[in-house]
Amino acid sequence: MNLAQELGKAIGKAATILPPDAVRALEAAREREVGPARVQLEAILENVKIAREGKVPICQDTGTITFFVKLGTKFPHLPDLVRALPEAARVATKDVPLRPNTVHPFTGKNPGDNTGRYVPAVTWEMVDGDGAEVHVLPKGGGSENCCALRMLPPGGGLKGVKEAVVEHVVACGGLPCPPTIIGVGVGGGADLALKLGKMALLRPLGQRHPEPEVAALEAELEELINASGVGPMGLGGKTTVLAVHAEYAHRHPASLPVGIVVQCWAHRRATVRIRADGRMEVV
Ligand code: SF4
Repeated sequence: MNLAQELGKAIGKAATILPPDAVRALEAAREREVGPARVQLEAILENVKIAREGKVPICQDTGTITFFVKLGTKFPHLPDLVRALPEAARVATKDVPLRPNTVHPFTGKNPGDNTGRYVPAVTWEMVDGDGAEVHVLPKGGGSENCCALRMLPPGGGLKGVKEAVVEHVVACGGLPCPPTIIGVGVGGGADLALKLGKMALLRPLGQRHPEPEVAALEAELEELINASGVGPMGLGGKTTVLAVHAEYAHRHPASLPVGIVVQCWAHRRATVRIRADGRMEVV
C-alpha cells in the first residue's frame, strides 16, 4: 500500500477532472443562458474538456490542497495516513504538475511543494468503522478571498442569515469566478461556522440537506442570488450560483455566526477510500 502515491493521484484527479456533478450543473446553466453568459459557460466547458483530455490542470490556480478525513475509530493505518497527507501534496505537485502555491506569510518563502506550516490543512472527523475516507478539496485563491464570516445579532434569525448571504455573494460580483457554489455554515462559533460552510461543499452538487428547514433555506438562497443577475463571470445572466449548500451547528443564544464559503465554478474534488486491509480506491 503506497498511501502517498494514491492520495497524490487523487489530488491529480481533482486538479484535472472536474467531477460529473459539477459538469452537469455547468451544462444545465449553459442551456438556460443566452448571449455573453452562454459564451462564458461554453468557454468554461471547453476548458474542462481540454483539461480532462490533456490531463492538465483545469485552472492555472491549482489551489491550496485541503483534506477532510472521515476516520474510522478502528482504522489501523493512522500513522501512515498522517505521514502520507503532506507527502501526497509533494507527489502531486511534481507529477501533475501543480503550481506551488504555499508561501510563508512573514518571509514570503515558498517551499515549492504545496506544503508548509498547517498545510495541507486537514479536518478530522471520527466515525464508526475500520476504514477511512479522504476528501481532497483544492481551493483556489480567488474564491477563497471572497469567503466571509458574519456575526449576526441573533434576533435577526433566518431572515438575517438570508440577507447577509445574498448581500455578500452579490457584492462579490465576478471576483470569485461565478457561477459559484456557496457553502453556508450557520451556528457553532466563528471558526466552526466557516468550517461547516466548507464541509457543506463536499456534498454532491445540488443534493439537498436532509432536514427540510435547511433544504428550504438552500433553495431560497439559490433563487434569491440567481435573481441578482450577476451571472457567469459577472457578465450578467441567470446563473450566479450553481448551488447553495448549508450546514449548521447549535449555537450560543447570544451568537448567530454565519460562515459564507465561496467556491468557484472549478469545484474540484476527489475522494480516496481506504480499507483496513490496505485496499484503496479513488472515486
Ligand atoms: S477562482 Fe477558481 S476558476 Fe477563478 S482563477 Fe481561482 S481557481 Fe481558477
